[in-house]
Amino acid sequence: MVLEIVKYGHPALRKKGAAVKQIDDKLRKLAADMFETMEAANGVGLAAQQVGVPILLAIVDVADVEDRPSTMSIAGKSVDPEEFMPLVLINPVLELGAEKEGGTEGCLSFPEITAEIPRSTHVKTRATTLDGEEIEFESTGLLARAIQHEFDHLQGVLFIDRMNSATKVSLAGKLKRLQKENRE
Ligand SMILES: [Zn+2]
Repeated sequence: MVLEIVKYGHPALRKKGAAVKQIDDKLRKLAADMFETMEAANGVGLAAQQVGVPILLAIVDVADVEDRPSTMSIAGKSVDPEEFMPLVLINPVLELGAEKEGGTEGCLSFPEITAEIPRSTHVKTRATTLDGEEIEFESTGLLARAIQHEFDHLQGVLFIDRMNSATKVSLAGKLKRLQKENRE
């Protein structure tokens, strides 16, 4: 089922996610619906906050994004990211590399807004999967960026919080309108 994606101004986007304690049918259904929702919107990631549920659950799928490559490795061994997509990340913990680079980002909760956002080029992720297994992997490229963006959502942090002030000023009018439309 395709869910409604809440937009900037909706209070759920500023809520810190509660830890997921149990992986049950309800959670599996939510993850499946989030995946359908993300696909329908052509996104590469979606956090539970974006469908109005503030818990530590996010999904990422960078398969088929040919112009923005990703790498992934597990226990030091390089693997094909496509084989692991879509990634379901439950209660994720990140270790961010020190090196950062700018890159273009959009967000399904901010229609028609994109901006250059600095992110770590390398990220190590530990999370629980929908099967209840622990996974740990390293990533670079679009995958690393998408994971950091979704992880932020889970903490109630939005990409506008990471824009430089000039970008934010240039988007101020758009953001104000969006916020007004979606405030409850
Ligand atoms: Zn987003």
